[in-house]
Amino acid sequence: MTVVYWFRKDLRLQDNQALFEATKVAKDTNIVACFGFNSAWFELLEGIRQHSLVESLKTLDKSLDGNLNVLAAESSQALADNLLKVCQEVNAKLVFAMNCFDPEAVRTQAVVAKTLNASGIELKLIGSAYAVQPGTVAKPDGTNYRVYTPFYKAWRLLADSQPIKINTSSISFQKSKLAIGIPVATKPTPVKVLAGEAFALRTLERFSKRALDSYDEDRNRADLGGTSHLSHALAHGEIHPRTILEILNDSPAHEVFRKEIAWREFYADVLHHYPHTLNDYYEPRFKKLRYDTGKQAEQRFKAWQEGKTGYPMVDAGMRQLLSEGWMHNRVRMIVASFLVKDLHLEWTWGAAHFESLLSDFDPASNSHGWQWTAGCGTDASPYYRIFNPILQGLKFDPNGDYVRKYIPELRHLDGALAHEPWTTLEGYSNGYPQQIVDHNTERNESLARLEELKQSS
Ligand SMILES: Cc1cc2nc3c(=O)[nH]c(=O)nc-3n(C[C@H](O)[C@H](O)[C@H](O)COP(=O)(O)OP(=O)(O)OC[C@H]3O[C@@H](n4cnc5c(N)ncnc54)[C@H](O)[C@@H]3O)c2cc1C
Repeated sequence: MTVVYWFRKDLRLQDNQALFEATKVAKDTNIVACFGFNSAWFELLEGIRQHSLVESLKTLDKSLDGNLNVLAAESSQALADNLLKVCQEVNAKLVFAMNCFDPEAVRTQAVVAKTLNASGIELKLIGSAYAVQPGTVAKPDGTNYRVYTPFYKAWRLLADSQPIKINTSSISFQKSKLAIGIPVATKPTPVKVLAGEAFALRTLERFSKRALDSYDEDRNRADLGGTSHLSHALAHGEIHPRTILEILNDSPAHEVFRKEIAWREFYADVLHHYPHTLNDYYEPRFKKLRYDTGKQAEQRFKAWQEGKTGYPMVDAGMRQLLSEGWMHNRVRMIVASFLVKDLHLEWTWGAAHFESLLSDFDPASNSHGWQWTAGCGTDASPYYRIFNPILQGLKFDPNGDYVRKYIPELRHLDGALAHEPWTTLEGYSNGYPQQIVDHNTERNESLARLEELKQSS
């Protein structure tokens, strides 16, 4: 029986549960592999994100021998209508796809299911992008965990680490007349984007040889490259967490890495239970905190976006984001803390900027990574814990290598001096900007605003 497969955030062939089920039904026949593409949404993305999606689709298309059918999907309904037309074209009665959990994807799959059902076609949603499907981990009383550590303990017992092997040799992938071709990026990218399933597996292999065994010690060092760089592959589904978890043992380094994989799953679970927290406060009282708005706030936001705040660690991170579409986790926390607690801007401003640029953009990890740092999320690092961007730089980039790599204006400063250009006469001789705010003053201001909030509630 010919079936339709709808690729979503699972742009791979191996270890793909929904595709595995599709191949069982379509044995010795055809699968029509489709992907919904919204060109209006794509146009809004920055170059790096455009290129990273295009590269993922190109490599998937190649592994399907050129038979990936990209369908126009200007809205969920347009996608549903086109999937229906494909089913009618090839006389398919089943559409397989991975179950997605972020609010927009949930809405889309509901529209697709309804449209197909109305014509007697079933949408089978199988598996997820997680080792444990969001909504599964529960306390003994059946409610969900709101704190990470107990979630992790329960998740660890359920986490699936057995990859699914798929034999696609008996399957032919079929072209549809509705295919519009692989999209072309309309904006330039400052960096060559590498993507795809094979690249993801190579990345995992390199990481396991090079850095996994010292992950517990090196992961916070921005200058060392001690993390996996698998986030792009996980966000696009070029690799499943099962394939990653399979290679881990019980050593401390591997356990710390497993816990990071679980943070992604925790945030997906939290967003599943509280979908409004995609753009809204998890801790609602922080909505009432006094934030800055207006011209000066916008100017400061622009300086933050451009990596021109005058704080080297913040600026290096923001310039890494602009030039690579990725940022080290520790630095993401530093720049996020700076935006909320030094510039007094709402976390949503920063989250939207990250969304436009991060090639690993993930709705749950982004919204909740921001809210965690802003002090209004789950397990909130308390609001009064305010990162000192200078001390953080000295600790997590002790020789200044990370800062010099992304800030040419500081390359003439040796060692840790790059973190404190104000301490030397030639610190600003290459045009590095002066600090736009004074950290100690703004720290006190943040604490005063917190006190104000406490008094008013
Ligand atoms: C403000 C902020 C925004 C963020 N936005 C995103 C986002 O849009 N997309 C995204 O994938 N991650 C996001 N993160 C989490 C984290 O920064 C990245 O996952 C990590 O930097 C990716 O690099 P890596 O693959 O080398 O990570 P590794 O350290 O190698 O970790 C392996 C994997 O575990 C997961 N992971 C690690 N740390 C976290 C974390 N703190 N929260 C959730 N998952 C984690 C990721 O999937 C990552 O690929 C954000 C963090 C913060 C503080």
